[in-house]
Amino acid sequence: SKETLIVLYGGRSAEREVSVMSATNVVAAIDYDKFNVKTYFIRQNGDFIQGPRFNSQPSPEMKLLDEDSSADHEKIQPSAIYEEGAVVFPVLHGPMGEDGSIQGFLEIMKLAYVGPGILSAAATMDKILSKEIFSSLGIPQVPYVAIYPGQDFVKAEEEVNAKLNYPVFVKPANMGSSVGITKVDEAGELRSALDLASKYDDRIVVEEGVVNPHEVECAALGNSEVKITLPGEVANSNPSAFYDYDEKYNNNALTIDVPAKIAPELVEEIRHYAELAYKGVAGRGLSRCDFFVDAENNIYLNEINAIPGFTAFSMYPMLWENMGLSTTDLLTELVELAKEAFENRE
Ligand code: ADP
Ligand code: MG
Ligand code: MG
Repeated sequence: SKETLIVLYGGRSAEREVSVMSATNVVAAIDYDKFNVKTYFIRQNGDFIQGPRFNSQPSPEMKLLDEDSSADHEKIQPSAIYEEGAVVFPVLHGPMGEDGSIQGFLEIMKLAYVGPGILSAAATMDKILSKEIFSSLGIPQVPYVAIYPGQDFVKAEEEVNAKLNYPVFVKPANMGSSVGITKVDEAGELRSALDLASKYDDRIVVEEGVVNPHEVECAALGNSEVKITLPGEVANSNPSAFYDYDEKYNNNALTIDVPAKIAPELVEEIRHYAELAYKGVAGRGLSRCDFFVDAENNIYLNEINAIPGFTAFSMYPMLWENMGLSTTDLLTELVELAKEAFENRE
């Protein structure tokens, strides 16, 4: 008999539109010989809406619910998603999805779920906490300044100017898809970037910028035993812009090279740091580990995305395709890992 996969998507964060694209791709790629799929859309206001169910491959024109099309639907209780023995894939990016909150809800509901547990999701969502973990593991990163809630921005600016070289990147600690991030070329522009970041989070990180970095990413898959792919690279055809939200999703200015066009001697070092970092943040199920490589071939870990984009043009599934694992088989393996982790907890 077939198992039930529950796809939870949408969500409250600025990344909810990416989530809809990721969930659509997951529903299209799942193995319907093994699974039936139930979908639930989480609206921006947090309401859970029951979406379509699929017992066989949907047509390519299939559209999942989104913010507009779910507007006149009745909300359900979040607990109504429960089905005994089902596995949930929270295809949710950013705060309130990738940060431990949904994971905590699923733990309480006693449901198996794909991807990181509470600790790993929360630790990787916070750019300050994750940097502190990476530095304790000796993983190379760019120099940074952490700004905590209530900290005076005048003092913060002094610290940045004393410790870091421009350009710097100002980032809200808890975000993704480049929302709230500014590249700052000179000290005079720092304050407005801090003000913008502070709209999204009261924890802010300011980092030294890597000049024209190669953006190199590895995919991790596993629980206690983890497999790391060969790295791929995101190349921006507009070198003056950074890899921001519009570049990522709207402008088609990005090309993905798999495998990455980097010096071969860097590859194993990057994979080694990816594995170390994944274990350090209690990684489970999957993650994408994102690095910068500069012109002198220095490697810097940028971040771990615990629930990476899963769209048809996303790096994570492409990296596995390159290793010979189709998205369909990748999803089956993720469900197996979810069940294994669940059995270990029970
Ligand atoms: P997000 O979690 O939103 O993806 P990132 O930290 O990955 O945030 O930053 C988004 C993008 O900004 C990166 O992909 C890169 O293009 C650029 N960027 C961020 N930090 C730096 C840095 N220190 N040096 C150079 N480019 C950076
Ligand atoms: Mg991120
Ligand atoms: Mg990123």
